Order: sequence, then C-alpha cells, then structure tokens
Amino acid sequence: MTAFSFLSHLVCPRSGLRYDADRIQQLSAVGAPLLAVYDLDALRDAVPRSALAGRTSTLWRWHELLPVRDPRHVVSLGEGGTPVLPLPRLGRALGIDALSMKDEGIVPTGSFKARGATVGVSRARELGVTALAMPTNGNAGAAWALYAARAGIHATIVMPRDAPSITRNEVAIAGAALYLVDGLISDAGKIVAHAVAERGLYDASTLKEPYRIEGKKTMGLELAEQFDWCLPDVILYPTGGGVGLIGLRKAFDELRALGWLDPARPLPRLVAVQASGCAPIVDAWTRRAPDSEFWAGSRTVAFGLNVPKALGDFLVLDALYATGGCAVAVDDDDLLAAQRDAARLEGTFVCPEGAALFAAARQLRETGWIRAGERVVALNTGAGIKYPETFIASPPLLQPGDGLPAD
Ligand SMILES: *Cc1c(COP(=O)(O)O)cnc(C)c1O
Repeated sequence: MTAFSFLSHLVCPRSGLRYDADRIQQLSAVGAPLLAVYDLDALRDAVPRSALAGRTSTLWRWHELLPVRDPRHVVSLGEGGTPVLPLPRLGRALGIDALSMKDEGIVPTGSFKARGATVGVSRARELGVTALAMPTNGNAGAAWALYAARAGIHATIVMPRDAPSITRNEVAIAGAALYLVDGLISDAGKIVAHAVAERGLYDASTLKEPYRIEGKKTMGLELAEQFDWCLPDVILYPTGGGVGLIGLRKAFDELRALGWLDPARPLPRLVAVQASGCAPIVDAWTRRAPDSEFWAGSRTVAFGLNVPKALGDFLVLDALYATGGCAVAVDDDDLLAAQRDAARLEGTFVCPEGAALFAAARQLRETGWIRAGERVVALNTGAGIKYPETFIASPPLLQPGDGLPAD
C-alpha cells in the first residue's frame, strides 16, 4: 500500500533549517513561515499521473501532495474541483482572446479560503489540536470556523468591524467565539498573538501554521490538470496575504519535480493584483525590493486585499520575479465597474477581489505586457453574493395591476 501522504518535513525558507512535520509547528526560529516538503522522488516512483483518473473531484484527489497522513482525519465539505470558464465576451472587451476564469465562488463558504481550511483544519486535528485562534478579514475566519466546527475544534476568530457582515454570521453560526476589532486585520493579529501566548491556543493566522498554503496550492494542481499539463501564459491573482500565489508557485514546482509538467515550458507569469488603497506588494515590486513595507491607512472595498503587510511577502515577490510576473494596482471604482461588466457580459457574479483581475488585465493588455494571443487565467477567489453591499440595485416599484413601463 502506498502512503496517503508523502509529506517529509517542514523547511524554513529563510534559514533552510528542517523542522519535524509531525509535531505542532508555527513560525520558524527566525519568524518565517514554514513550508511543507514532500518526498517527491518516492512519489514519482510510486504514483503515475494517470492514478488521478477516477478519484474524488474534491481537492483530496491530490492527497499524496497534501500533509494529512491518515484519511480518517480529513475534514471535508466537498471543496475543490472548480471549473475553468471561458470568458469570450469579456475577453473581447479587454482585447484578450483566450481569457478564462477559474471560479472559486462555488466552493463551500463561498470563497477559496475553504481550500486552506479543509487542509489546515484536517492536519490540526491529526496533530491533536483542540482549540485554535485566528485574525481574519472575514472569509478565512468564516471558513476556518465552519471547518473547525465540523472537526470538533474550538475556534476563536477576531475580525475588523468593517469586514463583510455575512462572514460574521458564518463565524457566529458555527459556534466559534467571535470578536470584532475597531481597526485592521493587523490589529486583530496583535490581539490573537497575545491570546495565543497567554492561553496556548493553536495560532491559525495566515502562514503562522504551515498547512493552509498546501490547501491553496491545489488551485495550481487543478489548473495543471485542467489545462492538460500545459499551463497558460499568465495567471492573475488577487493578492492580500498572497498565500494563493505562493501556493500556485509551489504547486508548479512540485509538478515539475515529479515530471508531470514539461520542464522545457516556462511557468506561467504570475501577476499579483492589489487595490490602489492597499498595494504594498505592487510598491515593492516596482522597486524590485525583496520585501514589502507596511502600507499605512489601507482602504479598499475588496476586503480580502486589505493586508497592509503580509508575513509571506518575500515569497510572493520571489514568485513574481522567478516567473517574470508583475504586480498591478487597481482603483476601487475600476474594480467595481469590472464586477458589473463580468456579470453583464458573462453571467458571472464575482467578488470584488476577483473583479480587480479584469481591471488589471485591461491595464496589462493596453501596455502590451499581456501579448496578443496569450492564454490568460483570472483566479476568481470568491462569490459576489457574499458582498451584497458592493452593488445596489434600484428597480422601479410597481403596484399590483400595473403594466410594465416602456423600455
Ligand atoms: C483572502 C482573500 C483574498 C486574498 O488571498 P491571499 O491568498 O491571502 O492573498 C482574495 N480574495 C478573497 C475573496 C479572499 O477572501
């Protein structure tokens, strides 16, 4: 019997030191996120690419490349396996013929945060965690609270008071302890760090536990399979903490090492899209810096992008430099307009974060950075219906017996 997981150990990307993966670990000794390393040589010999056929369509079809060792610890709500939708009409409007969107809006909890939660919570349960805490801009807290409930783990969640109200309700109905903070996610993070130190909770903050990234990585694994192992030229990603972007790169690196991708083909150019009101990665990329600076006074309707300083910024920037990618900032007005265009032209009601990708694609096509004929994928991270306040309809009110007015 081959192993369910080929997880080997954890590594600190700053110091290169190895850490035991079968104990609870948070940050490395130098304060960097730990990354999961798999025994890819053994996996290459044991499992051919064709073994995927006939497996579950959830992200657990990739279990050898995920950290959970015993399938009985998997906590799933049926996440993953999202479609890649061609967007021909929107593409034409942007001047991009081969535009498509991987749509994470249909996963449980309505955002791709479910991917990180299913893997992070499953592994936490496997390692014996009974109580966790995390700061969030909303969607991650909602997903982790619900998956924690399914796992029987107690969750404590702290979010900005301005976070989308639906995410509050998701956390509360899951029975988690919910607190609002009159500030930003960075303020919520300080409160959680204090509680973690005092009460010995498992710190599930972005990248402070090693496994959320493994769940998000599966978006890249799925894309490879969906594109028949011949990846697109450009992938646009709405970047807050940037975990998804780090995950995409990790997925492609692992698939290459396994020989599942053509080593002669360049990796897709990864694009970090941010809001103009909170663009620390764009600022750093513009200066070719290895790390970002704290973005003071951050503000955007795309709440998932409101991360003034990401713990994994150096990994995000490295992924951009290594793939010949770039970083782009988009105004809130432009991303809201793009949200309407996507719904009107394609029937896709994407979240504001996802909509930012289309506004960015327009800029990049206009400057020629995206070249004619290139295959471009936008990674829509969530459902527009989670943000009812970003679009307000004002239809005419009829009385019973009225006829429809002329158009
Ligand atoms: C969290 C979130 C993001 C940002 O994700 P990162 O991987 O942390 O950069 C983007 N969009 C939505 C809808 C989110 O919830």
